[in-house]
Amino acid sequence: MGQTAVVIGAGFGGLALAIRLQAGGVQTTLIEARDRPGGRAYVWHRDGFTFDAGPTVITDPDCLRELWRLTGHDMAEDVTLIPVSPFYRLNWPDGTNFDYSNHEVALRREIAALDTRDVAGYERFLDYSAGVYEEGYRKLGAVPFLDFASMIKSAPALARHQAWRSVYSMVSSFVQNEKLREALSFHTLLVGGNPMTTSAIYALIHTLEKTGGVWFAQGGTNRLVAGMARHFERIGGVLRLGDPVTGIDMIGDKATGVRTASGWSCEADAVASNADLMHNYRNLLGGHPRGAKMTDKLERSRWSPSLFLVHFGIKGSWPGIPHHMILFGPRYEGLLTDIYQHGVLPADFSLYLHHPTVTDPTMAPEGCSTFYALAPVPHMGKLPIDWGQVGPAYAERILSEIERRLIPDIRSRIVTQFHYAPPDFSRDLNAHLGSAFSLEPLLTQSAWFRAHNRDDVIPNFYLVGAGTHPGAGIPGVVGSAKATATLMLEDMGS
Ligand SMILES: Cc1cc2nc3c(=O)[nH]c(=O)nc-3n(C[C@H](O)[C@H](O)[C@H](O)COP(=O)(O)OP(=O)(O)OC[C@H]3O[C@@H](n4cnc5c(N)ncnc54)[C@H](O)[C@@H]3O)c2cc1C
Repeated sequence: MGQTAVVIGAGFGGLALAIRLQAGGVQTTLIEARDRPGGRAYVWHRDGFTFDAGPTVITDPDCLRELWRLTGHDMAEDVTLIPVSPFYRLNWPDGTNFDYSNHEVALRREIAALDTRDVAGYERFLDYSAGVYEEGYRKLGAVPFLDFASMIKSAPALARHQAWRSVYSMVSSFVQNEKLREALSFHTLLVGGNPMTTSAIYALIHTLEKTGGVWFAQGGTNRLVAGMARHFERIGGVLRLGDPVTGIDMIGDKATGVRTASGWSCEADAVASNADLMHNYRNLLGGHPRGAKMTDKLERSRWSPSLFLVHFGIKGSWPGIPHHMILFGPRYEGLLTDIYQHGVLPADFSLYLHHPTVTDPTMAPEGCSTFYALAPVPHMGKLPIDWGQVGPAYAERILSEIERRLIPDIRSRIVTQFHYAPPDFSRDLNAHLGSAFSLEPLLTQSAWFRAHNRDDVIPNFYLVGAGTHPGAGIPGVVGSAKATATLMLEDMGS
């Protein structure tokens, strides 16, 4: 092994990149600030309960399996994936339920129950979604957009699919029922995008889930992260935990290595970062003119909102509550506008409820259940919110909503409970403004307009993760790792 690389940050993107580099013959060191790998997919073990911090919906499992196949291994050596069905149960305040799955007959039955006229419109939406999936995900999801010419090349496809329209507007051109419009457009929230303003290209998520299914890693997403870390070390990679990188060393415009908080340092032929974009340029490259220039640009960018999560472990089993639920609130567009544009903490909310123990009871003590409820909230660059004060009350309001809609005696059942708010994202992950998903996935911040997988000025400094193309979400950041690894291996002649 002649060439060496350092990857800063062991989120899904950093892990996937490190595996690809190591598999490609580059001796790779992966350095993580926290005591465990995973980033947004961190984990807490409390009172016998396992609480995954972030991603729970695993789509396109093949993009993960590929990471093992590169070296002739099988992901099943480290991780067991379990199919989840329905994918989600959507629930509205009037009591309507909609079970969303890729079961053709069942899904059409659910649509017909909302409005029989929309079954035909759904078929047309399906064709549209399949088209953007082919163009936007299969062809371009793991391709680095390094120059404007690459953007121009994809312009005809973008125009053909009316990429300037929003997902909600496009869905609305196919179906009339408001609940179905919400059911077919809410997915962008899972990658930080407002369905009212995020490009219709993101309708591809429907086909992504339909073709690849929705999966859960046995033991939780943390087992998938642990499996990736184990696999990286198995093939010879070095993982260094609990030691934040404090700076990238430079000679002129060339990165020469990194140094960390503990005083450790390391030289490398190439440096890649999975850390937050703003943190990379403002803090890690703060002494270099490129750092100042990009900080300026990123300050003018639009960042996706943050999230507020309540984790709770309760006594009892809930076979009637599916693994993934969306509890819509009374407003859809108004609520999103409050969060994304006005930046106020609304009195109402829509919740995503995660109930892993219905799939894997080992994630709680016997006879108990693990849950988290998540609400999108404004990031910290909007109106000031004192989360230290507001957090406990907000958590109580969320629990009251769950009590009213799903678990009437929830309070008397709680064994353990804690919450996670925007300042926690900022402190634990160096996330700019506490944003949960990095740059907002707007058309004007996508592909070439997003941070490039290789820095424009520092030829051996690379980026990977949610801030780069194609964006947030596990398939997105694993796709970005493929794009970045392809570039790095080419550049390093491996
Ligand atoms: C609550 C929540 C739920 C989600 N649900 C889903 C879901 O169900 N499905 C899905 O596909 N996606 C989901 N997402 C999105 C998905 O989790 C993220 O887009 C993805 O995990 C981000 O990965 P990343 O590679 O960008 O790195 P991150 O997870 O952001 O990791 C970056 C890493 O860099 C480290 N780091 C930062 N600074 C330094 C430094 N100076 N030195 C060393 N290390 C550093 C951090 O500690 C961190 O470990 C969810 C996100 C959240 C927050």
